[in-house]
Amino acid sequence: MYYDVVVGGGSVAGLLSAREIASKGFSVLVIEEDYEIGTPEHCGGLVSIAGLEELGIIPFRKTFDHMIESAEITSPNGKSFTINSKKQKVIEISRRELDKQIAFQAQKNGAEIKVRTSFQEITDTGIRTNEENIDCKIFVDARGVSSLIHKDRTGILSSAQYEIYADWIKKGKVEVDFDQEKYPGFFAWVIPSNEGKGKVGVAGKGINVSDTLNKILKEKGKYSTIRKIFAPIWIKGPIEKFVDGKTVIVGDAAGQAKPTTAGGIYTSGMGGVYAGQAISKFLQSNEISDLQDYQKRWMGRFGKEFEKQKMARKILERIDNQTINKLFESITPEITNEISQKEDFDFHTSSIIKLLGIKGSLKTAQTLIGAEFKKILS
Ligand SMILES: Cc1cc2nc3c(=O)[nH]c(=O)nc-3n(C[C@H](O)[C@H](O)[C@H](O)COP(=O)(O)OP(=O)(O)OC[C@H]3O[C@@H](n4cnc5c(N)ncnc54)[C@H](O)[C@@H]3O)c2cc1C
Repeated sequence: MYYDVVVGGGSVAGLLSAREIASKGFSVLVIEEDYEIGTPEHCGGLVSIAGLEELGIIPFRKTFDHMIESAEITSPNGKSFTINSKKQKVIEISRRELDKQIAFQAQKNGAEIKVRTSFQEITDTGIRTNEENIDCKIFVDARGVSSLIHKDRTGILSSAQYEIYADWIKKGKVEVDFDQEKYPGFFAWVIPSNEGKGKVGVAGKGINVSDTLNKILKEKGKYSTIRKIFAPIWIKGPIEKFVDGKTVIVGDAAGQAKPTTAGGIYTSGMGGVYAGQAISKFLQSNEISDLQDYQKRWMGRFGKEFEKQKMARKILERIDNQTINKLFESITPEITNEISQKEDFDFHTSSIIKLLGIKGSLKTAQTLIGAEFKKILS
């Protein structure tokens, strides 16, 4: 059996690369180890409309859940501020449906998709799956964070997310809670899917995410659990080489999720799009430089922002609850208003800089985080 390209992993990045490759008439097979594309859904589903448009996706009615209107951010001592996020045009989508929608686009272009088929290893002439050997010119590794676990564990955090029904979940309102003792280096979140329905999650360094999430929910009030997922997230930014011989690494497998939030529908998805276009070019020209252009293009688009996000992450990892509380005290309505005017969901370090109090009188935090702070501003 021969295909020009085999893609291992049938999620956003893999399916988008297949869509692009098939659109140029090359044969491409996507293999997905799970039983169903889009399931199990390991995602909060927050994405900007601008991001989706760039990915070439206009959400089907089934995919689009609802618009996010505000984000409430809470400090360890319970003080909070709210950002009006209407300008950001962020929506909550069903990942189960989004992935199927991309699968539909890919197969319309001519790609083949097989579920319950897993990539095992590279062979001299292609790859081996759990069923057979398949020859190919290029293998696309789109296996998500699972592909990174063997390479580098240091950038991985555990996360838990439960889908629940609860009266206290408000349609359109995302909640983010910081507490360095309970969720070191990350945060807890509530992402509504509708009134009284949503996803509540947590990640953090060295914590038992299941126990932590159970505690969070107990404090929040009455709820019913519909689904639980436990999944690793990658927060260390892009890996060194996206192209390794005839293997092209895309999406979370290449570290293309945002270091601040681990959100990757857009940035990992763009990895798939850019890789697919570069692979098509390479298959026409046989010039290895055409393949390499994929990394240059992705880094050109996201490299600088990801560097800044990594610095912001370093700051979060170093500051304690007291400093976070102080930071929150200095956030004025002018600052939240200014952030509410921004449309930078995918390139959000300028909002983080504002929140860190560049113009404020945050002597403690600025001394603590001085060096990193200067870098993030540069
Ligand atoms: C709890 C949680 C919440 C999140 N919330 C958001 C959010 O709100 N917004 C956002 O933008 N991002 C979010 N993300 C991140 C987002 O889900 C990922 O960035 C995105 O799914 C990455 O897509 P991908 O195609 O690179 O990899 P993945 O979606 O991880 O897909 C990898 C695929 O490869 C398959 N696979 C693995 N091994 C093999 C194998 N050997 N053979 C064949 N197939 C294989 C897997 O089954 C899977 O389908 C969240 C992540 C988590 C864990």
